[in-house]
Amino acid sequence: MNQKDIQNFLVSDVKLLPGVGNKIKSLLKKKKIDKVSDLLWNFPRDFIDRTNLKKLNQLKVGEIMTIKVKVIKYNFPRIKNLPNRVKCVDDSGDIELVFFNSREGYIRKILPLNEQVVISGKIGYFRNKYQITNPTYVVPLEKQNDINKQMAQYPLTDGLNEKVYRNLVETVLKKISNLKEWHNTDILHKIGNVTWSNSLTQLHSKKENEFNSNYYRRIAYDEILANLLVLSQVRKVIKKNKKKNKVFNNLVYRKIISSLNFTLTTDQEKAIKEINKDLESERKMLRILQGDVGSGKTIVSLICAANTISSNYQTALMAPTEILCKQHFELAKHLLKPLGMNVEIITGKTKINLKKKIYKNLSDGKIDLLIGTHAIFQKNISFENLGLVIIDEQHKFGVKQRIQLSKKGGLNCDILLMSATPIPRTLVMTVYGDMDVSKIEEKPSNRKDILTLSKPEEKIHEILNFIKKEILNENQVFWVCPLIEESKNFDYAAAKNKFKLLSNQFKGEVGLIHGSLSQEEKSAVLYNFLNKKISILVSTTVIEVGIDFPNANVIIIENSNKFGLSQLHQLRGRVGRGNKKATCILLYKKNLSANAKKRIKILKSTNNGFLIAEEDMKLRGFGDIVGYQQSGIKNFKIADPIHHKDLFDIAYKNIKEIEMNEKNFSKYNFLVKLFDKVDVINEINLEKVTLD
Ligand code: ADP
Ligand code: MG
Repeated sequence: MNQKDIQNFLVSDVKLLPGVGNKIKSLLKKKKIDKVSDLLWNFPRDFIDRTNLKKLNQLKVGEIMTIKVKVIKYNFPRIKNLPNRVKCVDDSGDIELVFFNSREGYIRKILPLNEQVVISGKIGYFRNKYQITNPTYVVPLEKQNDINKQMAQYPLTDGLNEKVYRNLVETVLKKISNLKEWHNTDILHKIGNVTWSNSLTQLHSKKENEFNSNYYRRIAYDEILANLLVLSQVRKVIKKNKKKNKVFNNLVYRKIISSLNFTLTTDQEKAIKEINKDLESERKMLRILQGDVGSGKTIVSLICAANTISSNYQTALMAPTEILCKQHFELAKHLLKPLGMNVEIITGKTKINLKKKIYKNLSDGKIDLLIGTHAIFQKNISFENLGLVIIDEQHKFGVKQRIQLSKKGGLNCDILLMSATPIPRTLVMTVYGDMDVSKIEEKPSNRKDILTLSKPEEKIHEILNFIKKEILNENQVFWVCPLIEESKNFDYAAAKNKFKLLSNQFKGEVGLIHGSLSQEEKSAVLYNFLNKKISILVSTTVIEVGIDFPNANVIIIENSNKFGLSQLHQLRGRVGRGNKKATCILLYKKNLSANAKKRIKILKSTNNGFLIAEEDMKLRGFGDIVGYQQSGIKNFKIADPIHHKDLFDIAYKNIKEIEMNEKNFSKYNFLVKLFDKVDVINEINLEKVTLD
């Protein structure tokens, strides 16, 4: 078999293997084994030592043991479906072997009367007697060495015979021993100097400390690389799209920053530079601006919009809700109008006549910046010369949508996404690897850390006293009663009760928002809060991310122990925008779990979203990281971002080297197939991956 044949064999259906018919195929499917190579990822759960012979008075029920016994009596019932039985003894006791679906002649052959044999199997106990049903090994004394080895035990489903399964794995392992290594010596050296086939053979033949053994890490590395390869392909396709470069000087930028009553942070400046470079290049931009809540992404995006406009292109800014759109609109008007730029807003609520007028002005090029909800991507909207699309709070977009988006904007359109969901550093490439990433980590310098406290619910009176003082100081309070039951009604009831209780104490000062209100009703309450008509806002979790409530300084989160770290951090980020001191109080019911205690401790200790994302991943596993599920990238089978952080780093560098040499790419297509990443590629209509 040549190399290509072996590769093809590995990615073929398991039915290709001798002995695998429909029945075994369906059993394997239960273990998610579809392709030949999937057998390789199902590592042994344990290894048993069958070399250690036991006396019949040392047997342990339920364990796999090996015995040396003499055959003394057969029992071949003449009734169909009854098993054949063979009685055996040693000098310490006796045991019965039970054979279902066996023929008499076969049993007489492998278990000759009065001869000594070595038998291995799982010890059972029935009617006061030891027995072994369908023993895995029955060999004559002289062949005892045949079973003298460590035997892998696989996690299997019922009905799948261990021996059959082991034979399948052995067949595959034999084939891959001829597979040549694909990494160069430099990479090999960095990942422990073990080859792929040797690693797999080792992992299937002796007990290895899973995550940290070099063999395991070697396999994990290839999976990580496969992931990055896919994203790299996507990225390549996007980058291939040429556009006209934008041309602007720094006049607009200087005017805008001189009108601000604060100075930009270094990270904001850096992000602007990175985006500008993309705007000025001849390749389409697909960039994500990642920054914690309140880190000041909006101003960055508006400066870039202004640059685009000064280069004679239009910009569209899309945000998830009307109220957020309005906030962006106010700021944009304030900053861009003085520069002679024309800003408009369009939402679901915009009256039809006005809409028509806006459409017209837009296609005539009279509007420079259009802000809106998804309404701005409707069919009948056409821009005269769209040059940049900005999408705020986009964490629900996966790779697939991003690709579509990059096609949608038209010929000269750049794309900037913004997300307030920090992602652990290890995962940035895996989740956003198809895009360029700009990161704002630093908070505005006037921003104080939010003081975070935790309190058991019984101490609610202390909290009421506390907010009384805050309100006297003209501060505003969020009171969050998050969804904890599946049922909306229950969740609503909790919020409503709290609303009543608070309304009694703070007459006319309290508003309530929950999931069953219409969008309009919600907006009305939010505006009341924003305009300081009320001081306390009780809500279920549904306060939109992104809205700036500069005067809200206190947030109280009920049932805080039910939430993940990142979620709590996001909620907390809704306060503390101004320069007053902000407080977050985490309420909990008694008996906190150890994990919940840890979460609260971490929140109290830091305000850094990126750090919190790392900790969150450690506590919950990477599969639960916000944004990962939607990323469209399949979960890892073997690699683990927590244990294999260093491998991710090596792979990032490796991928850059691979990218430099286009020809290299096809060499790795095999990996993409091996780890099931192909559908991601095919889904987004890239050239289908083939093995050549
Ligand atoms: P987010 O990154 O969550 O979208 P915003 O862009 O809404 O954050 O900014 C939050 C608040 O911080 C706004 O009121 C904004 O004017 C203010 N802000 C932005 N950058 C700075 C800065 N460098 N210094 C002080 N305040 C800033
Ligand atoms: Mg924002």
